Amino acid sequence: MEMGKKDADLPPNQFSRDRAAFWKEWTHLQSSVGAHHQKVMEFFHNQTAYLLKLECMIIQQAAQLEKHKTKQKSAVNAVGVFLQREDSYREALKAALEALEEEKEKHVCQICMTKPRNILIMPCMHLLYCDECLRKHLNTSNLCPVCRGTMKTWIPCRFNLD
Ligand SMILES: [Zn+2]
Ligand SMILES: [Zn+2]
Repeated sequence: MEMGKKDADLPPNQFSRDRAAFWKEWTHLQSSVGAHHQKVMEFFHNQTAYLLKLECMIIQQAAQLEKHKTKQKSAVNAVGVFLQREDSYREALKAALEALEEEKEKHVCQICMTKPRNILIMPCMHLLYCDECLRKHLNTSNLCPVCRGTMKTWIPCRFNLD
């Protein structure tokens, strides 16, 4: 390089034809090497800038991911709370349905468990059966199925409002 530079500083007409050609080539080579070097430097500079940018992006993405994870965690917790709440709602609903069923049972005939109670037995005043079941019962006995008291008469009644 030192030699080349020294040679390049001399005027070309002081050299032989071959030497002049070499000088020309050398100058060109030097300038192209310089340009190439500059390009390489630029490339590395760009690459470094790109890598720095990439690093920044990665850091940002990691932060976002962490945020996302935190959000996801709280979403999972919210779902858990919701499911717990749903469970308690379901339990309350089940209890209400059971109460309703119990209430319904109080209104249906205690023999067939389907038809509404609509016969009041006298004089014991038991109101527990439907006319159909009482009629069947009367084929075998005239005693009230609950208290075993003699049934003198029975009064049809409407227990349901409908
Ligand atoms: Zn019945
Ligand atoms: Zn009775």
